[in-house]
Amino acid sequence: MVENKKIWLASPHMSDEGYEQEYVKEAFDTNWIAPLGPNVNGFEKELAAKVDIENAAALISGSAAIHLALKLAGVERNDIVFCPTLTFSATANPIMYQSAKPVFIDSDYKTWNMDPGALEEAFKKYPNVKAVLVVHLYGLSADMDKIMQICNRYNVPVIEDAAESLGTKYKGKYTGTFGKYGIYSFNGNKIITTSGGGMLVSNDEEKIKKARFWATQSRDKARHYQHSELGFNYRMSNIVAGIGRGQLKVLGRRIEKKKYIFEFYKKELGNLKGLKMMPVNEWDSPNYWLSCLTIESKDIKPINIMEALEKENIESRPVWKPMHMQPFFKKYDYVGSDVSEKLFENGLCLPSDTKMTNEDLGRIVNIIKSLWE
Ligand SMILES: *Cc1c(COP(=O)(O)O)cnc(C)c1O
Repeated sequence: MVENKKIWLASPHMSDEGYEQEYVKEAFDTNWIAPLGPNVNGFEKELAAKVDIENAAALISGSAAIHLALKLAGVERNDIVFCPTLTFSATANPIMYQSAKPVFIDSDYKTWNMDPGALEEAFKKYPNVKAVLVVHLYGLSADMDKIMQICNRYNVPVIEDAAESLGTKYKGKYTGTFGKYGIYSFNGNKIITTSGGGMLVSNDEEKIKKARFWATQSRDKARHYQHSELGFNYRMSNIVAGIGRGQLKVLGRRIEKKKYIFEFYKKELGNLKGLKMMPVNEWDSPNYWLSCLTIESKDIKPINIMEALEKENIESRPVWKPMHMQPFFKKYDYVGSDVSEKLFENGLCLPSDTKMTNEDLGRIVNIIKSLWE
């Protein structure tokens, strides 16, 4: 029997034009196979221009960017940081790198992201919080007007984890540019990828300079190696940045295709009993990184869909398991009700690979529809 063609959740998709290879070749030709270099500077400038922000620092990962953002926000041992519970652990881990304490915040059904009501409650309980991490899951923006209003009232810096939402706009403004700091990720399954990498952005030039300094081992200006601060080896390489420059050129095209995939699922599956596509709000212009849904049905659970797809060599996965339910994080406080738990229980991420054909999409929706027959 011939194996069915594998369909991925989201896999790297290089440009047809070979832009990435041109930038990488240039790095080879000039022997700039090192951290720093013209591609790093170029990638920083081009990404900053794309999302309309002043400064960017290219780093080895989105996680490293979150870590440095927390440091820049002054987060130290035992400080409290608010963090959405419904996210990938990479959002919360850097809080632990700083030996700080996360307090997890519930989602709302309207956005799947941080619930402003729960955030307000958390501020009442922890008025001395040091920083607030906000995530834009699956390319859907959090309700930034409300969140920024609350955080500004308490005068606490916001760090936006826009790892999954590069290119998403909230009321016409790019996610990652509302808070004091924003971060993006170019990991293998993100909307554009460099195989691995991240970016820290801010309108505060001094802070970004400081991040670059820490990211290159905190070398003081001296002929010998001199260090007055703890350093990190977090800087992106010139090869990796070359891939990023090429990928940035096709971001618009990737968003278009991701939107097409979402609309296809919505049209074909949106009327199945108990099935609801993820919420796209009137103010939201998402990048549709992953097409997700929830099912509320006695007979059909997300696991049934996952198993049916898996049999046909098609990858799908559950919605993130909330941090307050994770063995590693469960001793930390949690503010909210059961929304994130319900989203985890009923949620599913469908294959959202931009290389899928209409035939692939047809196969997927037919498998899913057959469960309702
Ligand atoms: C991917 C991801 C990250 C981490 O990015 P890396 O580049 O893999 O370190 C952080 N937060 C969220 C929500 C992510 O999806």
